[in-house]
Amino acid sequence: MINAIFIGPPGAGKGTVASMLHDECGYVPLSTGDILRRAVKEGTELGIKAKDYMDRGELVPDDVIIGIVKEYMATNDSAKGFIFDGFPRTIAQAEALQEMTQIDCVFLLDASEDVVIERLSGRRVCKKCGAIYHIKNHPPKVEGVCDICGGELYQRDDDREQTIRMRLRVYREQTAPLIDFYREKGLLVDIDANRDAVENAREIADYIKRHCSN
Ligand code: ADP
Ligand code: ZN
Repeated sequence: MINAIFIGPPGAGKGTVASMLHDECGYVPLSTGDILRRAVKEGTELGIKAKDYMDRGELVPDDVIIGIVKEYMATNDSAKGFIFDGFPRTIAQAEALQEMTQIDCVFLLDASEDVVIERLSGRRVCKKCGAIYHIKNHPPKVEGVCDICGGELYQRDDDREQTIRMRLRVYREQTAPLIDFYREKGLLVDIDANRDAVENAREIADYIKRHCSN
C-alpha cells in the first residue's frame, strides 16, 4: 500500500492522472476540489462556507480542509492507498497530513502557464460522473454530452480566465513552497506535465511499482 501526493499548478492534469491510476491500479483519489464541488452542489454547510473562496480562486481555510480530509479517510477504505490530489496546498496542511498518515512519494506535475491556461479554458466536466474533457484536445463524441454516462458537460465557474490567473498566483505564493518542503524529505519526483495525461500516468505508475510499493 502506498500514499502519494500530486502537487502542481491548476491545469497540470492532476485529476485526470489520478482517475487513470484509479482505473488501472486501484489507488483511491482523494480530491479536495471534488469533495468541495460536491458540497457546493448539494448546498451543505461546508458548501456554503467554501463557495465564495472557490469562485474567487482563493484557498478555503486550512481548518475546514483538514477536517474534510480526516473525515474522508475515516469513512473511505483504501487497501492500495490514497492519491492526494489538490491536498495539501499549504505548509500548515502538509504538517497536519504528516500527523494523519505516512506519505511514500510526492509527484510534482509541472506545466508552463501557457499550457495550463489553454487547458483550463477549454476544460469541460460531466455534471453527473465528473469525467473531464477538453473542447480541442479531448472532445466528447457528441458536443456537450458525456461519452461515459450521457450526462451534461459544463464549464467550472473557476475556469474563467481571470479566476485562472488568480489560482495560478495562489499556487505560486501558497502551494509552491511545498516543493522544497517535500524535496528536503527526499520524497519529491518531478514529472513533466506539459505532455499528455496518458504519458504522465504511465510514468507515475511505473515509478510507484519500482520505488514505492511493497
Ligand atoms: P485546481 O487544482 O484545478 O485549481 P481543485 O479542483 O483542486 O482545482 O480546487 C478548486 C478550488 O477548491 C480551489 O481553487 C480552492 O478554492 C478549493 N480547494 C481545493 N483544495 C483545497 C485545499 N487543499 N486547500 C484550500 N482550498 C482548496
Ligand atoms: Zn459522465
